[in-house]
Amino acid sequence: MAEEAKRIIVVTGGSRGIGRSICLSFAGNDTRIYFNYYSPDPDAEAVFAAETEKLVAEKGGSAKGIFANVSDEKDVAKFFEQIMDESERVDVLINNAGITRDGFIVRMKETDWDDVLNINLKGAFFCIKIAGKLMMKQRSGCIINMASVVGVTGNAGQANYSASKAGLIGLTKSTAKELAPRGITVNAIAPGFIETDMTAVLPEDIKKEMLDQIPLGRAGKPEDIASVAVFLASEAASYITGQVIHVSGGMYT
Ligand code: NAP
Repeated sequence: MAEEAKRIIVVTGGSRGIGRSICLSFAGNDTRIYFNYYSPDPDAEAVFAAETEKLVAEKGGSAKGIFANVSDEKDVAKFFEQIMDESERVDVLINNAGITRDGFIVRMKETDWDDVLNINLKGAFFCIKIAGKLMMKQRSGCIINMASVVGVTGNAGQANYSASKAGLIGLTKSTAKELAPRGITVNAIAPGFIETDMTAVLPEDIKKEMLDQIPLGRAGKPEDIASVAVFLASEAASYITGQVIHVSGGMYT
């Protein structure tokens, strides 16, 4: 397939976990994938990013990891400039980058509140502002925001995280209404308990408690989320917008 016919897929936080699985699920000769990653130790994180690039290449696709902090507007602008210089369009944006800084609300530090809101919610806003404008010119596009079931239900110890994910849901619904006239769909995925580095750090008793709440009786895998992202970005989902798709094994629903 000619280079210009490739779909350009942009994934934030593609170096690990769900983001990596999404990159792998879109890998093929009809896509070109760009993802970003960020941590205070760029050398260590570059290893994870290189691994995503390699795994995508092994599936016959092409992916490029770019070091960029989603909560820094200048970094986000440079990230998209690089994509536009090389590929001249953005077909799919998946706002996946996210962090947790759990703690009880009365003891929560302001920095833990700000970091979570800035990365999980403001980061998506920065990316949508740029990609949304590009997609409006193209008169097509698809945006997927990675929310969470706790953005709907709340969760003790996660006031900052739940607020960021509830905010993402509001952002999804409003943006969907604004961009629909230009043929752009905007949806959110609300994962439940998924096996990644984010949940690996939880104490065993909390993990067991969460597993006990999943009717399907197992934790989710990153691929369970990635397959829904691929569907939402497909022609088959072109009449779906402004929705929150729970992918949680029945948890909290
Ligand atoms: P993860 O394994 O911890 O991966 C997080 C990804 O986000 C990494 O690629 C990380 O990059 C990137 N990232 C973090 N801060 C960033 C920043 N400032 N700028 C750019 N990239 C940044 O987490 P995950 O479990 O895959 O979670 C992915 C998304 O799903 C998150 O939004 C999370 O809230 C959501 N989610 C997860 C679960 C779950 O059970 N795992 C449940 C519900 C929702 P580095 O590798 O460079 O750090």
